[in-house]
Parts: sequence; structure tokens; C-alpha cells
Amino acid sequence: MTTVLLAEDDAAIAEPLSRALTREGYTVAVATDGLAALDRVQAGDVDLLVLDLGLPGMDGLEVCRRVRLDHSDLPVLMLTARTDEVDFVVGLDAGADDYVGKPFRLAELLARVRALLRRLTPEAVEVAGVRMELSGRRVLVDGEEVGLANKEFELLRVLLLRAGQVVTREEILREVWNDPEMKTSKTLDMHMSWLRRKIGGERRIATVRGVGFRFNHD
Ligand code: CA
Repeated sequence: MTTVLLAEDDAAIAEPLSRALTREGYTVAVATDGLAALDRVQAGDVDLLVLDLGLPGMDGLEVCRRVRLDHSDLPVLMLTARTDEVDFVVGLDAGADDYVGKPFRLAELLARVRALLRRLTPEAVEVAGVRMELSGRRVLVDGEEVGLANKEFELLRVLLLRAGQVVTREEILREVWNDPEMKTSKTLDMHMSWLRRKIGGERRIATVRGVGFRFNHD
């Protein structure tokens, strides 16, 4: 699961934004002041920080500077109502990766979040003889290229990036089909069976009954 920390003291912004991020499939934590945001980052497990510039206690710039001391690779998206501070916000001084000016369009903010998270995705991942070249969209099994349909590729990506862990049916449906309500559908099982046939069957992708699937390390 990808955890987004939303540091925003204005409930009129935090609440709808939190709902929208949750709908996108992220786990959302909300902090309403600067120190709470910093504490939550230090506690770990945060994958991206959406940080309001004007926070009580400690402002967003100071939070960002301190986050950078220990978590230099955590993507930070700054929210700012003050366009005159934009250069400063994304400059070296504060170290935010990107910013969105208030008021913002939800769709734009979500696109920025996705773009920042994509930067964290590796170019290629290889587990137990299965290699995925993500940007080139190539899959090699024991050195031989196999052709996967779009959904099969996405399915394999979700499982391979979390190899060794169980990925639930709900997570897969949300990430591959963008629709967790498709739970009863046979679509997932159908695509899973096609994918298994192409990459080496149950030996590689195990069914965890009643829960989901796991890509095996060996
Ligand atoms: Ca504020």
C-alpha cells in the first residue's frame, strides 16, 4: 500500500482531498500542524508528503527542510496560496519536489501525486527468473521474451513489485482495473490464468485462498 501523508490545517481542503486520495487507492494519514506532520514522517511508512505551506506550529518550509535531513528521497508536493514563494518552495532551500498553487483542481493535484510516485518505481525488476522492464514494457522469463496483453502486464507488475507478499484481490482490482467493486467478477481469475500460463504457472504465482495472490521468490 502507498501511504500519503496530507499535512493541511484547513478541513475544507483536507477532507475532500483525503477522500479523493483514498478513492485513488492510497492509504491517507492527515496531520493538521507542522510538528504532527514531522512526527508522522519520522514514524516511517510515508511514501509521499502533501504539505501545506501555511501550517500552524511549524510552517511547511521548515517541515520540508527537516524532512530532507533524514528522508532525502521522500517526494514532497507543496500546497501554496502564495505564488510569490513558488521559486523558493521548489528551490534547493526548502527542497520540495513540486508544488500546486491554491486553489487547485483536484485532477491536477492527483496527476502530480501520481507523477511523483512514478519516479520511485524502478526501471526494471527481476524476481526468480522473471524480469520486467517497466518503461520498455518488456517481460522476459528465463531470458526469453514473452508477449503479455496490457492487463496481464499490469497484473504482473502489481505482483512482482511486491514479490513475497500477499496482494489481496481488492488491491489487484483497484490497481489493475481501478474498480474494487468488481470483487465477484471472474475477470481477475481469467487474466490470472492467462498470465500464469505465460510465465510458469502456480510455481511462480501462488493462490492464497480467500485472500489473494503471491509472487514467489523461488
Ligand atoms: Ca494552511
